[in-house]
Amino acid sequence: MKVAIAGRANVGKSTLFNRLVGKRLAIVDDTPGVTRDRREAEARLQDLTFTVVDTAGFEGADEGTLEHRMWAQMGRALDEADVYLFVVDARAGVTPLDEQLADEVRRRGKPVVLVANKAEGRNGEVASLEAYSLGLGDPIAFSAEHGDGLSDLRDALMEAFESVGEPLPEEDEDASKPISVAILGRPNVGKSTLLNQIIGEERMLTGPEAGLTRDSITVDFSRGEQHFRLVDTAGLRRRARVTEALEKASTGDTIRAMKYAEAAIVVLDATMPFEKQDLTILDLVAREGRALVIAFNKWDLVPTPDESIRAAREAVNRLIPQAAGIRVVPVSALSGRGVDKLMATVGDAVERWSTRISTGKLNRWLEMATQRHAPPAVSGRRIKIRYMTQAKSRPPTFIAFCSRPDALPDSYKRYLINSLRETFDMPGVPIRLLLRKGD
Ligand code: GDP
Ligand code: GDP
Repeated sequence: MKVAIAGRANVGKSTLFNRLVGKRLAIVDDTPGVTRDRREAEARLQDLTFTVVDTAGFEGADEGTLEHRMWAQMGRALDEADVYLFVVDARAGVTPLDEQLADEVRRRGKPVVLVANKAEGRNGEVASLEAYSLGLGDPIAFSAEHGDGLSDLRDALMEAFESVGEPLPEEDEDASKPISVAILGRPNVGKSTLLNQIIGEERMLTGPEAGLTRDSITVDFSRGEQHFRLVDTAGLRRRARVTEALEKASTGDTIRAMKYAEAAIVVLDATMPFEKQDLTILDLVAREGRALVIAFNKWDLVPTPDESIRAAREAVNRLIPQAAGIRVVPVSALSGRGVDKLMATVGDAVERWSTRISTGKLNRWLEMATQRHAPPAVSGRRIKIRYMTQAKSRPPTFIAFCSRPDALPDSYKRYLINSLRETFDMPGVPIRLLLRKGD
């Protein structure tokens, strides 16, 4: 999903851009040669990830001038984007140029999220109301500088993405498209050994090649019908040495790899699993919503295999409840035992992660689930969940419309997620459930 930030100069577009892209990536941006174009970057807003494009600031322009060319350039940026963030300065009020730009944006008929920036402080909300006059929908009272209004922005973007329609799962599931996988884990668990085992015995290797972007290194290979693209975090790490600041982030490797991978193999040392750092990595991957499989490595060193795997599966469900049922595959990276099974399991995990559930099925399930265990009453009134829809897959993300979203306890949300996971066969999938007000 591509989001273009539009608006006249000085309304705070760059500040918003930086906030969406984040400090970590801003560091990358400042390193010459690491990122191609500082005006376009991967953005993250809570659970949403998308590409954000900062169009330059524009003042009114006469034909043939530099400004005019900039208008043309902005036009192209707008044509390429799926959704617009239209930024106005709430303090300055709506200007004629804002109106002119608003026309430009509206003409294209794409979803627009209207951001009334610089709306921090007591009068912010009121100041933002003037932006209604642009006819681009409800303005979000926002402060790019202070970070106010991020949740509202997220909800509005989510809605815009929905209306555009996320990439079709049919396309995503195209068997010829490789599944990008990162091998993650704390030092010494056997990541390099596993990587070598996987690609070493594979002669269909078509890499290493510079992959998706300049700062990722990937290796493509196939196992049977399944095509994989391994994201080389070691390569990423080498490259990241360019910036010392990045190197300092302890989970930096994991975060970087997650940027490029759909699925993660988290390697644990079966002789000492679930150390603190293991859990940090697992939690991060689950929170990022990636398909996740655990390689329970050094299996050859485990004296009591049956007991050990049972304990591991139990521990995973307890420690990573947000993705209960993650597959734990015993492997020996050194000998290669279990590696085939591991890669097949990654394929399965990605398939489940791509699950699409029809609205009809979902609402039949909702009726069943709420009958079996009704939503609680809060301050005397029962919360009603009226309707549910799947907003996207990869990871499966659902929106439930309910009478009082804020009052629904987390425990009930967890109940719904677990029931969804069980009913629609999505073990180990980090399911997302968003609540919206709807009567
Ligand atoms: P752009 O030209 O649209 O990219 O605007 P910039 O991001 O460069 O911001 C223009 C000016 O507005 C800068 O001085 C920012 O510090 C300031 N600014 C940006 N966002 C906010 C905000 O939320 N509140 C306030 N008070 N100032 C902001
Ligand atoms: P990394 O730091 O996670 O990349 O770990 P390495 O791949 O460098 O492995 C760390 C150590 O564990 C090395 O001495 C490996 O030989 C050893 N090792 C890796 N996989 C296995 C395995 O399946 N069984 C045994 N016994 N040792 C392993």
